[in-house]
Amino acid sequence: MKVFKFGGASVKDAAAVRNVASILKGYLSDKIIVVVSAMGKTTNALEKVVDGIFHDKEHALDSLEQVRKFHFDILDDLFPEKGKVHEEVHNLFVELEWSIDGDPELPYDQEYDQIVSVGELISSVILSHYLRAEGFTNTWIDARDIIRTDDHYREGNVDWNSTKDLVKSKLIPEFDKASLIVTQGFIGVTSENYTITLGREGSDYTAAILAYCTDADEVLIWKDVPGVLNADPKWFNDTILLKQISYHDAIELAFYGATILHPKTIKPLQNKKIPLRVKSFIDPEKEGTVINDFENSRLVPSFIFKVDQVLVSISPKDLSFIVEENLSSIFDVFAKAGVRINMMQNSAVSFSVCIDNRKDRFEELINELGKDFKVKYNTDLELITVRYYDDATVKRVMTGKEMILEQKSRNTIQLVVRNT
Ligand code: ASP
Ligand code: MG
Repeated sequence: MKVFKFGGASVKDAAAVRNVASILKGYLSDKIIVVVSAMGKTTNALEKVVDGIFHDKEHALDSLEQVRKFHFDILDDLFPEKGKVHEEVHNLFVELEWSIDGDPELPYDQEYDQIVSVGELISSVILSHYLRAEGFTNTWIDARDIIRTDDHYREGNVDWNSTKDLVKSKLIPEFDKASLIVTQGFIGVTSENYTITLGREGSDYTAAILAYCTDADEVLIWKDVPGVLNADPKWFNDTILLKQISYHDAIELAFYGATILHPKTIKPLQNKKIPLRVKSFIDPEKEGTVINDFENSRLVPSFIFKVDQVLVSISPKDLSFIVEENLSSIFDVFAKAGVRINMMQNSAVSFSVCIDNRKDRFEELINELGKDFKVKYNTDLELITVRYYDDATVKRVMTGKEMILEQKSRNTIQLVVRNT
């Protein structure tokens, strides 16, 4: 049994959906769970709808209309005749309109999940019907019947025991009827039966959860890149395809911000030694990258760039030292504000952290820290992480940049820099 994940770009229009069907033709003898993301940039568009509900109703309706039109154009292209699929998608939009009507009843994050999750419901309904029309018998499963989480909205934490039981009782038996199952990435359900999401780009994680719970042989993530590259082509023109990487390296790369995989994806697969393959949906015959248990010697250097970084320097107001008690209250402030620390360094009298410039959280964070500490910060910085660095690669990334802070371990160097 294999788990396939098709991301937003792989179902961004009618041609892309047809391409998914043609990829599946190569796997007719396998049992497959297809996990699909919302089509194209639907999640971003639905985020605007949510924002509109809380701040500007008109705007919410406009944004929703665009999302509706986008999907019905795809539907009309895929299904020249109106049928059940149109009705099902229409009903999902009616529900969305209802939630826009009237004042929001739920707190922002909870409301967000109720609305944004519909993107995946729509894409999975369309894909399932399309595949059926093309002769692929398949069962559509609502991920909310199988993936159970706590109530940490927008970043649900999986309740593994319930999820394992639900997968066993509700998903596995469906393979008796058809060898293909279509379900949604990114979404789950709380014990109070509210829809929840697993964090942006969370569909990879769904694929890993389902692979873990079904003891799958392999996970295949289909992307618009040839596999895992040693740098984001957005920043680098001579990237190298990494043919095979270890779970450990994949976790490290995702942790430092490589956007190729959702950071939580690897752990469950590593625990059961299930290989993960990243393949191109444009060139499906190509091998792509396999992430598995193999331990490599040093890989080629991999680069991760984070722009729009802020370096915050925090020191006790009374010029005392930075000690455990200060650190624990500093970390507490970051945790409460929900701001992730990308890199940190301490000296006797100050503690520096590099963070994303989260406009929505920054002021609150600085005010809160300012109660007990002297706080200074620099904006417009970049954080460059090089895994498996050497002198030549460091020199290369530092060209035209001024070093603000550097941190090295045996395999990884992190540089906070400013463009000069
Ligand atoms: N549709 C969701 C997002 O764009 C989940 C995913 O694509 O993985 O974040
Ligand atoms: Mg996506």
